[in-house]
Amino acid sequence: MKSGVKSIGARIAVSYVAVLITAMIVFMAGTAVVLYLQMRSQLGHYAIQDIETVEGLMSFTPEGELKVNEDYHNHPESKLVLERFLEARAADGHVLYRNDRLGKRSLGGAPAPDEGVGGYSEHSAELEDGTRVRMVSRRHTINGQPVLLRLAYSEGPIRTSVDELLGAAALMFPVMIAAAAFAGFRMSRQVLEPVQKITVQAERITSRNLHERIPVNHTGDELDHLAEVFNHTLGRLEQSFQQLRQFTADASHELRTPLAAIRSIGEVGLHRNGSRDDYRELVGSMLEEVNRLTSLVDDLLMISRADSGAIRLKYTTIDLSTLARDTITLLEPLADEKEQELLFTTPGEVLIAADPTILRQAIINVLHNAIKYSPPRSVIRTEVGPDATVTIEDAGPGIPPEHATRIFDRFYRLDHGRSRDAGGFGLGLSIAKWAVEANGGAIGVAGNTFRISLPQAPPSPGV
Ligand code: ADP
Repeated sequence: MKSGVKSIGARIAVSYVAVLITAMIVFMAGTAVVLYLQMRSQLGHYAIQDIETVEGLMSFTPEGELKVNEDYHNHPESKLVLERFLEARAADGHVLYRNDRLGKRSLGGAPAPDEGVGGYSEHSAELEDGTRVRMVSRRHTINGQPVLLRLAYSEGPIRTSVDELLGAAALMFPVMIAAAAFAGFRMSRQVLEPVQKITVQAERITSRNLHERIPVNHTGDELDHLAEVFNHTLGRLEQSFQQLRQFTADASHELRTPLAAIRSIGEVGLHRNGSRDDYRELVGSMLEEVNRLTSLVDDLLMISRADSGAIRLKYTTIDLSTLARDTITLLEPLADEKEQELLFTTPGEVLIAADPTILRQAIINVLHNAIKYSPPRSVIRTEVGPDATVTIEDAGPGIPPEHATRIFDRFYRLDHGRSRDAGGFGLGLSIAKWAVEANGGAIGVAGNTFRISLPQAPPSPGV
């Protein structure tokens, strides 16, 4: 059900009042019914006592007429009897006696066959004029004749009492509801005050003031927890924004270098009268820079697609040894240029579940670095382990331990001069790390050995 009331405070107050009204109605109705039933049962008891009194006061005249004894009016209970409805009927059902109060009205109509037999029958009835009564019947023998005696009390006073009770409650109702609504609204406002504070603070926060935090009261309650969670989220956002800014700044910086080189090569070419061969050389240098630029843009594109989750990995069961061998074959020409030897060791088939395209990218980047940073005529060893690992050991300077983790950060280069000469932007290893981790693996380095470990594929059925 959708409520039209917008404020939570008002909604809590409305629900509170609704519950209270329901509880009060149920309580009052219950009380009224119990009171009515108790008083009616009490009437029944009185009627039974009265009927016993009346039995002793009635007798037949010699003419066969049923009468209340002479001393009736002197009898202490007589007054009470006068105030009740009294009727006596013969066995065939015809009326033998009705007291003055009852007059000509019938008390309960024609007798039921088992009415008043073997004890007192008690039930409610209605007189012809609409008066509700609680009556008790009893079969009795007067002067040897069977008689059905009926004695009843009007239920009017009971109803009046119940009506008075309900009337008093109805008068109190609006006052109590107004008080409850006021209390409920105040209470909910107090409870929701911290939420209001959080809202105001959250509204103020933009990308410029992400360092600001919501005040935490340290009360340990749910709203305190909410503020803490919100602050943690802000912290993560702030960190992401910072990384994004840093990334954009680094990327722009890296893009400027090849662009500046292309421009200066172009300017040199424009202002000098060179031979055809000179120009060919200039265009060659420009193309080299363009290639660097292209590979940088490719890397940036890959990173931004990876960050945005646009790359969906397709896992299949593949042989890690085949994947590593294919990568070595792919990079062989680069190693040949430096007369390096690429050695490969494998235990045979090593099955893993991975996205082969993405994982190949990781091995290419690591192996390419090994070729780049190893001296000419050296040996680079690649080994696939039976525990789904790929180890690449080169003959280069290696990574000092203090750089072993940062080396996988974006744009991080150990020695700018050296890596710039080798043509790197410091993105290759960060892409390799993402690619390995996206496949559920881990990558690390110790000295001049890089190690990629991957989760092993569960054995396929029948193997
Ligand atoms: P780059 O494109 O600059 O090689 P990477 O992210 O692949 O970027 O590597 C980051 C830095 O780590 C490199 O600049 C280089 O200084 C260092 N590095 C990477 N691999 C090796 C290696 N096999 N031997 C020595 N240094 C390496």
